Amino acid sequence: MRVQKRRIEKDFDNISNFGKLSNGGVTRLAFSKEDIESRNYLHKTMEEIGLEVRIDAFGNMRGRREGLEELAPVAIGSHLDTVPEGGHYDGVVGVIAALEVIRVLNDKDIRTKRPIEVINLSAEESSRFGGATLGSKVLSGKISLAGLNKYVDREGLSLYEALKDNGFKPDEIESAVLNKGDIYSFIEMHIEQGPVLETENISVGIVTSIAAPTRFRVNFKGVADHSGNTPMSIRKDALTAASELVLGVERIARDEAGPATVGTVGYLYVKPGAMNVIPGGVELGIDIRDISSDDKKMAVKKVIDLIVEIKKNRPVEIEYEILTDDEPVQLSNKVIQILEQTAEEIGLSYKVMHSGAGHDAMHMADIANTGMIFIPSKNGISHNIEEFTEMDDVCKGAELLLETTIKLAQE
Ligand SMILES: [Zn+2]
Repeated sequence: MRVQKRRIEKDFDNISNFGKLSNGGVTRLAFSKEDIESRNYLHKTMEEIGLEVRIDAFGNMRGRREGLEELAPVAIGSHLDTVPEGGHYDGVVGVIAALEVIRVLNDKDIRTKRPIEVINLSAEESSRFGGATLGSKVLSGKISLAGLNKYVDREGLSLYEALKDNGFKPDEIESAVLNKGDIYSFIEMHIEQGPVLETENISVGIVTSIAAPTRFRVNFKGVADHSGNTPMSIRKDALTAASELVLGVERIARDEAGPATVGTVGYLYVKPGAMNVIPGGVELGIDIRDISSDDKKMAVKKVIDLIVEIKKNRPVEIEYEILTDDEPVQLSNKVIQILEQTAEEIGLSYKVMHSGAGHDAMHMADIANTGMIFIPSKNGISHNIEEFTEMDDVCKGAELLLETTIKLAQE
């Protein structure tokens, strides 16, 4: 193997320190102090290995190794931000594998025709601002200046303000947009976040398509009242109404939509949240995903119909807002073929599979020939402090990333 475990481990250990929790996990929310510290580390490391670093108006980082010709670059990387109390592998492995690719090229003095860029995309996780894969959405022209104010964290700070506070330039967001072909090819290596590779004892996954989420925020407004003195017949209970929707989303995804549809109500805030008060308000979030656009549309329509029906049958007001409505994405057949051929050449077992989770790769696919490499997740767990991947598996993925990047960069 040409990649060196020791160097990958060193980057991993260093980045793990930013936002490390005493229980073993990490909290490194987008544009938080910890995220900025990890970016600074990456910036310094990129410069140490000879990359020229550019940071766009949204904070997306691109470290460039020049090619022999003036051609669009091959980009490799992922993200450094995490969910609250998340694991150390999600996103990070794709960035540190990309750094190791550059180190191997430097060691072996391999010059490529095309430039190669290591990328760290900003705000991939939706935990802080309620929208996922924001950095790649900006690059692909899907978020405007006005749109930045739509994303607000729980403290009421907008994404616009968070960018400004950290010295980025939200007013110039248009300048970050790339055209199709500005990047020749993008490859993101990522943990699988599911149990398939580990269960089947396979080294890497080669991703063909990415399921896309539709996300709703739903607000139920009833009347908070005394739980003892208010007769059942005149109550306006926001939580009992919301409960119908929670169970409805499960039923629709399981029984009434497509074979790959999944639906989740992942959070629920009950107000005022006291045992002796009828809930007067509920906010909840729904996430529906599919690799089939038609099946997802069908599920979304059924959820909206259900909201209308609950509103008819219960004395509460219900408002919903669609936060994200992404299309499932097919990745580049050409890159998939090269990944398969390369995995065979270097003797890695692989499985061609789809991704149920969203990734930056789905927006990068608008700009560049895009592919993804999955590596095994222990017990399929992610977004959790238990998230774990063997360093040997990180190295195998990095080796495939290395050899594939070289091939693409010589085209
Ligand atoms: Zn990720």
